Amino acid sequence: MKSRIVDFPIFKDALPEVSGMYDLSLRQVRLAELPKYFVDGQSFCTWCHLGGPLKHHAQRYCSDDCRMSANMWSNPQSYLAKAYILINNQDCACTLCGFCYEHRILKYIETKEKAALEPKSSTPSLYKDIKIHLWGVGYNLSTHHDLEMDHIIPIHKKGQGIGLDNVQAVCRQCHKEKTYQDSRR
Ligand SMILES: [Zn+2]
Ligand SMILES: [Zn+2]
Repeated sequence: MKSRIVDFPIFKDALPEVSGMYDLSLRQVRLAELPKYFVDGQSFCTWCHLGGPLKHHAQRYCSDDCRMSANMWSNPQSYLAKAYILINNQDCACTLCGFCYEHRILKYIETKEKAALEPKSSTPSLYKDIKIHLWGVGYNLSTHHDLEMDHIIPIHKKGQGIGLDNVQAVCRQCHKEKTYQDSRR
């Protein structure tokens, strides 16, 4: 399934220099606050500090992997992070009830592929429009199928809010029940 999603990233966790800048109990942080990283006056990737020198002054990341890793790390509630966690870390299944979202993901991919194959007068190549992004998968599952992101250790019990270490993708109903149980403990 991974190969059928165009922008599947390799998640790179935050460097200690980066995570050290933030209060990890926050639910979301602004990446724009992250200072640019320079070596000998040349700017390198703000996320991995390795990629570079970067060509344009507005460029912050060396690759799509770094850009998406930074986005998921800073906002684990995002559609991108939800889909990534579900597919990459959980084999497409809710960790609480075991419900498998794979057939729903495949159905979404098939719909996209079918739409891309429909002849359009402006696109001579029938195949060139097939773009199935992880973000779209996450959006689809969240809005149509009630997929939510849960903090394994609740933030009020000192669980980490940002990053992907303390999150799991779960069904809305499972999330509701867990939140209720957590509040009673
Ligand atoms: Zn990088
Ligand atoms: Zn569930």
